[in-house]
Amino acid sequence: MGTIEYELKQMLVKKYGSALFENITKVGMNKVKENFTIMYNEILNYLSNSNKTIVLDVTQLRFINDAKIIKGEFVALRPSLQTCVSQSRERFIQNNPQATAEQIQEYTQKRTNILHQLNPIMNELLAQVDVLPDIKDSKVSFDNVAIQDFLLENARKYLEIIKNEYGTFMSSEQIQFLNQLLMTNCVEVNLNGKDYSLNQANEINDSPNITSFEKLEELRKLNVPLAHGGRVFADNKIHFYPSVLLAANPNLSTAELKQKCDEVLIHELLHFFIRPESLDITNMPELKGINNFTTEGLVDMCARDIQQKYGLFSHYNSEYGSNVIFVREALSNISSLSERMQFVFNGSIEQIYQQTSTAMYNSYQQFISARDK
Ligand SMILES: [Zn+2]
Repeated sequence: MGTIEYELKQMLVKKYGSALFENITKVGMNKVKENFTIMYNEILNYLSNSNKTIVLDVTQLRFINDAKIIKGEFVALRPSLQTCVSQSRERFIQNNPQATAEQIQEYTQKRTNILHQLNPIMNELLAQVDVLPDIKDSKVSFDNVAIQDFLLENARKYLEIIKNEYGTFMSSEQIQFLNQLLMTNCVEVNLNGKDYSLNQANEINDSPNITSFEKLEELRKLNVPLAHGGRVFADNKIHFYPSVLLAANPNLSTAELKQKCDEVLIHELLHFFIRPESLDITNMPELKGINNFTTEGLVDMCARDIQQKYGLFSHYNSEYGSNVIFVREALSNISSLSERMQFVFNGSIEQIYQQTSTAMYNSYQQFISARDK
């Protein structure tokens, strides 16, 4: 006899007595919850120095009073709440063939309420969604006007550079748009990410073809970025959220905030002009992420080239290093510089991949390995 289950039970019985294992019908739900939480904490503690993985299933999760005590990865392997409810409803109808529509409705409602109450994880997630805009609304304060003025001035400088470097590869509409940006306030520094979070949360909630549980998972992952472009609010403005930097490091000075925002400004500006037409991957799910991956690679490639040529931000580093390596390699298959740059500024994702595929270099395959690195 040496199973870990036996060892754990012995440990618990010795410390708390066998009453700890009494079932619901005898002691009621609340007592079972209390006991389960004791067991769970004791087991965590007992196994803290081992490399054992503790797996809780949904039935067990229901006995945890406070979802915050759950440690580690959360993997949702369960049907959606809707599915649970409709399964119960089916069963109820089967077992009660004489039930009236009202009774069925009443049962369904009761079942929905119970499932909501019994599943603390679900409740925790729901609660997070409810308070989402508040969480993202950090309480830091900073001189957003000074940062905005500084970034606006630099944005105009960088737009001139972009025009000089890449103007010949742009369409007349793009040049016109660039000139228009030069005359407007294309940078906005926001005090918090509340509007951004709300906007993203609505988008997630409205997205079709994903289950409600996947939605909750998406909402849980939602983070305010340091900056984003004009597509989020369709306002042709780059939005900055220095509050994100301050949340991580409250001691940053205005000068440091300016510098950190400035570093990503060229990248964000290039997004206005590098918008290759997307590839429809409905029938090619293995190419998931190809549009975004390529676009970020093209944008950051140009951003890096400008920064190097003009000696800006010697420590510039983005998360798009592997994207840039990939697009540089792919584009090197196109020998003419002007043709290459036309693809960057006016190509479609499909064109770029078609043109860069050779017998030696299958760019879809290369994309998959670059993406999965
Ligand atoms: Zn980007």
